[in-house]
Amino acid sequence: MTENRLAYVEQILADLKEQNLYNTIRTIESPQGAWVTIEGRRVLNMCSNNYLGLANHPALREAAKKAIDEYGVGPGAVRSIAGTMTVHDMLDKAVAEFKRVEAALTLQSGFMANVAVIPALVGKGDTILSDELNHASIIDGARLSRATIKVFRHADMDHLESLLKEDNEGNVLVITDGVFSMDGDIAKLPTIVELAKRYGALTMVDDAHGEGVLGENGRGIVDHFHLHGQVDVEVGTFSKAIGTVGGFAAGSAKLIEFLKQRARPFLFSSALTPPDVMATLEAIKILTNSSELVDRLWENGRYFKAEMKKLGFDVGASETPITPVMLGEAEVAAEMSKRLFEAGVFASKISFPTVPRGKARIRVMISAAHEKADLDFALEQFSKVGRDMGLIE
Ligand SMILES: *Cc1c(COP(=O)(O)O)cnc(C)c1O
Repeated sequence: MTENRLAYVEQILADLKEQNLYNTIRTIESPQGAWVTIEGRRVLNMCSNNYLGLANHPALREAAKKAIDEYGVGPGAVRSIAGTMTVHDMLDKAVAEFKRVEAALTLQSGFMANVAVIPALVGKGDTILSDELNHASIIDGARLSRATIKVFRHADMDHLESLLKEDNEGNVLVITDGVFSMDGDIAKLPTIVELAKRYGALTMVDDAHGEGVLGENGRGIVDHFHLHGQVDVEVGTFSKAIGTVGGFAAGSAKLIEFLKQRARPFLFSSALTPPDVMATLEAIKILTNSSELVDRLWENGRYFKAEMKKLGFDVGASETPITPVMLGEAEVAAEMSKRLFEAGVFASKISFPTVPRGKARIRVMISAAHEKADLDFALEQFSKVGRDMGLIE
């Protein structure tokens, strides 16, 4: 008799499908952009993190090609042994300058950056205070650290303060997302910094959705609130607004020197490739030189949100171009996403476990790559589908 040892896995998959929580992954057959090809059809892309349209920008493509000619395609090793190339040092320096901090260290992704930084900074006998809506990579980094984890209610500064007042063990690290990716609200960083100072805690912000969005020319949340030098660690990604792939940690020179000795993904996983690095450098150059793309992103976001509200949709409490269309039940979100796709709009549903049960939504990601005509097309389809489903008048 053959035993099916994976029967429980099959059961979980069947349950997910039954509850409308199964995630069907679509394949994009074209380059990233405002419009993409899926299943041979051109559809308007409203769910990418390509905020500024840089993922297929001609200058970034050129920079990547040139990098291949000059430096090849692979780093050959982890950075701490023989994988740090001139281009990596250049990018570390450029990120530090852009973020207006003493030093930065680039890593393989934003996820890796959290897994690198948190267990290096705190360990068994220390305490982490973490916002309940923090990104999965913060949660995993925190778990790997083996520090005691205390979760504060989302953006609830009174709750954070009450946790800071407790008799916490060891070093205390407060961690928050900068912009919360599912709702588009901005962390109350000035209050977090003030409270952390008062109670002698360290602060860390993950600015994955703030880079290229908030602050002068997209420098991020610390710049937005003029908190330079007051946040101990900034973590970020190149895979969203910057348009490429990779992550980083930024802060004081001492912090970065320490991470180079202790951060395990830096020590045990190979470096970014030269084309990734040079395309990223090009993106930072574009942002440094002009606020045009960031301005267009905000203009697009404001326009789309205002029009969606006029149509009668609940777009939540977003303070950024991220536009959640709150729908409640997972099956409603799934049905709406399906109908929108048939109408030529690619806008994915987000449901449990990414957001709490009963808070399913379509999350619209606005981009500087969208033309006004694109946004109008999307609004027309949202309006039609919303009416057909009886969600709006
Ligand atoms: C997307 C995201 C990450 C992961 O970044 P990658 O570079 O894609 O690994 C980490 N933290 C937050 C808050 C994110 O939104």
